[in-house]
Amino acid sequence: MKKENLIIVVSAPSGVGKTTVIQYLMKQRDNLALSVSATTRAPRYGEKDGVDYYFLSNEEFEEKIKNNEFVEYARVHDDLYGTLYSEINRHLNSEKDLILELDIQGMRSIKNKFPQAVTIFMLPPSLKEMEFRLKNRGTESEEKIQKRLKRAFEEMKVRSEFDYTIVNYEVEQSAKDLNAIIHAEHLKSSRIEINLE
Ligand code: 5GP
Repeated sequence: MKKENLIIVVSAPSGVGKTTVIQYLMKQRDNLALSVSATTRAPRYGEKDGVDYYFLSNEEFEEKIKNNEFVEYARVHDDLYGTLYSEINRHLNSEKDLILELDIQGMRSIKNKFPQAVTIFMLPPSLKEMEFRLKNRGTESEEKIQKRLKRAFEEMKVRSEFDYTIVNYEVEQSAKDLNAIIHAEHLKSSRIEINLE
């Protein structure tokens, strides 16, 4: 039996906690890999280059656009974010499923290029809760928080474009939900090749 590696796109308004959920599941499963995106945004406290993102200057990012190094890229909030072909290739040649954390524009581009990709939208229990989490994180100014909340509200309207929705009430349960989706996707008949000889 041959197993297909999955491309899993997880999108969520910022402050929902998608990174925490993904990291939680990755600690329990060693067959998941995370695509590291490139961005022009400044690193947050504790973020490492090459681990959380490839932190690039505007010039470096533009250069990579010119050289066709991006599968997709988008302007999100005030910065550029993009998925490099090298990240996708690195993982599709491995035994691991690949998770991409992208905004909605990124999800659409990936689904266009890889129709077999599994898309998951993560929601906060409420916008109030999201505002609380963003403020608690303390990494954005009040103006940026309000911008992100407005965008979150807009993003929630396109939820139906995604294959699955996870409401993040609590990290452990959301990680279980994510795991269940991955498990079920692997069992899809269309993904399984069986040689009966
Ligand atoms: P943050 O600044 O909070 O790390 O990310 C802001 C937004 O950019 C999030 O919605 C995140 O999913 C999205 N994002 C991160 N990397 C990429 C990428 O490579 N492409 C796209 N389209 N969006 C990304």
